[in-house]
Amino acid sequence: MRDKSVLRKLLGLCVATVVVVGRELHEAGDGGRSKLVVKVRRRARVRGRCGRCGVVAPWFDNGGGERRWRHIDVGMASCELVADAPRVSCPEHGVTVAEVSFARHDSAFTRAFEDLVVFDAIVSNKLAAARRHGISWRAVDHMCIRVATEALGRIDLLEGLVAIAIDEVKYKKGHRYLTVVCDHLTGRVIWAMKGRNKETVRAFFDALGEERAGQLQFLTCDGAEWIRSVIAERASDAVVCLDTFHLISWATAALDEVRREEWNALRRNGGAHAAKEFKGLRWILVRNWENLSSKQKGTIRDLERANKRAFRAWQLKEELRDVMSMPLVAARRGLDSWLAYASRSRLAPFVKLARTIRHYRESIEATLEWKLTNGISESNNAAIGRIRSAARGFHDPESFITMIMLNRAGIAPQLPWAPGS
Ligand SMILES: [Zn+2]
Repeated sequence: MRDKSVLRKLLGLCVATVVVVGRELHEAGDGGRSKLVVKVRRRARVRGRCGRCGVVAPWFDNGGGERRWRHIDVGMASCELVADAPRVSCPEHGVTVAEVSFARHDSAFTRAFEDLVVFDAIVSNKLAAARRHGISWRAVDHMCIRVATEALGRIDLLEGLVAIAIDEVKYKKGHRYLTVVCDHLTGRVIWAMKGRNKETVRAFFDALGEERAGQLQFLTCDGAEWIRSVIAERASDAVVCLDTFHLISWATAALDEVRREEWNALRRNGGAHAAKEFKGLRWILVRNWENLSSKQKGTIRDLERANKRAFRAWQLKEELRDVMSMPLVAARRGLDSWLAYASRSRLAPFVKLARTIRHYRESIEATLEWKLTNGISESNNAAIGRIRSAARGFHDPESFITMIMLNRAGIAPQLPWAPGS
């Protein structure tokens, strides 16, 4: 195999479009890193295209001469591609630098290098990816935006939706929220925007359009009026389901309120030791029974003797979870007896929750009937939480949205050497 074709293969350059013209190794000085500079050119038979839209366009001039793109490292050395950057005259975009097959428009990095960096930023975070590849955080941020924008331009995530979930996600302390929409069938995030109010939900329906909104059959959300009123306005034919994930989280919040009341009562009555033990219970109580260790299960059994009110609250939470996993007819009956029990429980947070559940009864039964359950909201919420903590919070909501889409919308780049990429 000839030297140049070995090099072309090592660099993963496409034989149909690119020819390796020459190469040079710039050896490092003290402590530095060597750099392999590879000169390439477009194959003569490949026609010039507009760098912005990809349409075949007539040659205009030689532009600013040679340009350089950082490429994936080769062994211990970094690597740079060098090529002429002629300009074409696009009927739509005017005089533009011609497209090169190995890089995105207006980038100082090759497509493969960007995909690799963005892949790393998704599995860890932007700072880690920046350090790993010796580039700035800002450069990684721009790559994420470029890769996401390109991918979102290729696919229409709002096409063919039948069942969706509308939810809010915190991105920063002090009540800064995004509204996030997921597709129940694919589990993907399909839309996100800063804010949580009627205007935000209307913006989603604007993007969706009237016809596609009319095709929606199911929507899940929590009890929020700002979501429900817009749904009534824009997708009145759809069945509104109350996400079980939200229902269970309401019950968990009620349980925690009871625990806190009991803890305060213990403290007031001078049971400092008991109060301290009680505080530590929190994480055991809110977890699902099947996820507890046998020692933790023992602690809950002991609670039955130690504090009847907290135990009853815990039972109510677990029973509601059971009811929500039953088939429709059994669940209807189960919910009736649960409501009766909760109303008589003399636990104020659960008496209140029973009222709320009666209010949303129709939505809850729709959820049971159509089995649009917590899976999707729960896993997307957890994943979005991981994205936020990996980045140690986000100041810029757009940047957070970009990472959510790259992670959860099915548009993450493959590794450059993955088959078919
Ligand atoms: Zn163009």
